[in-house]
Amino acid sequence: MTPPNTNAEQQEIRKKTPSDFIFGKVIGEGSFSTVYLAKDVQTNKEYAIKVLEKAHIIREKKSEYVMREKEVLRILESLCPYIVHLYSTFQDPGRLYFVLTYAKNGELLKHINLYKKFNFECTRYYSCELVLALEYLRSKKIVHRDLKPENILFDHNFHILITDFGSAKIEKSEDNDINDGTEDDDVQQSNRRRNSFVGTAQFVSPEMLQESKSSYASDLWALGCIVFQMASGQMPFVGGSEYLIFQKILRLEYKFPDGFDERIKDFIEKLLVLEPTRRLGASDETTYVSLRKHEFFEEVDFDDLGPPPKLS
Ligand code: ATP
Repeated sequence: MTPPNTNAEQQEIRKKTPSDFIFGKVIGEGSFSTVYLAKDVQTNKEYAIKVLEKAHIIREKKSEYVMREKEVLRILESLCPYIVHLYSTFQDPGRLYFVLTYAKNGELLKHINLYKKFNFECTRYYSCELVLALEYLRSKKIVHRDLKPENILFDHNFHILITDFGSAKIEKSEDNDINDGTEDDDVQQSNRRRNSFVGTAQFVSPEMLQESKSSYASDLWALGCIVFQMASGQMPFVGGSEYLIFQKILRLEYKFPDGFDERIKDFIEKLLVLEPTRRLGASDETTYVSLRKHEFFEEVDFDDLGPPPKLS
């Protein structure tokens, strides 16, 4: 486990127990976790507490996934407003508890489905927040590897909160690129991904499928898929089976619906590029200057995005 950053944080982590919280309704269930809305009895602040049954995790061989999520969330601290923050972790004999930022407005996917698709303004706004979140992840040397609209939540003010870091990779050095020496980790993750990706294979990058390798550019591929889905309500790569979806991804076989905004189209086309190093932003340093400079973001001030537009 990565050591806590400060003494205060260390004390905070030590002193919390389940009795420090009033557990409320279940707000979600994962395949090996239940997420509760909970209130800190001292501060009255609301949190989402993810509860994991130890026996279930061991039985399902998910220990590595759980430890990875915790390790990555510890690295990410609380500096980025667009990432779910892990406030503390504790355990009792049977369970593990992760105290997380409460994303009151649920998953991005739910809202895309509700409105069928987002208008230009909303698509652009949330694309900007995603770019800022990806810049932050990159600065922390984290590749998420499972970005999709189910893993992007909305907080009480409808700002995004990226979650689910169980498949994430921690890059070992600044020089790491697609040909780096972290293939073992990628292979393990890729195997896990194949087993657990039913229904959402649509967001896997071609290099992860073909070579079991990932890099920051794999998240840029996923960004292209997510922007496509926000703007159209559909995923770019769909098929009757994972195999058929994978074939389409590897052949870059997707089609923009009629009337698709030309600026968004160009942005997506520059992200959905088979060769990861040629994706827009792949050669950028920590700031994705080439993404920020794209005409899709003309008139956007990345230093002050302002409040989110009303969803529609
Ligand atoms: P699986 O493990 O099967 O892939 P998952 O990753 O969605 O599922 P969890 O992360 O445990 O599993 O989340 C379960 C549900 O709880 C999801 O529907 C998610 O939207 C919701 N949820 C998770 N974290 C939060 C949070 N911080 N705030 C609000 N809802 C959350």
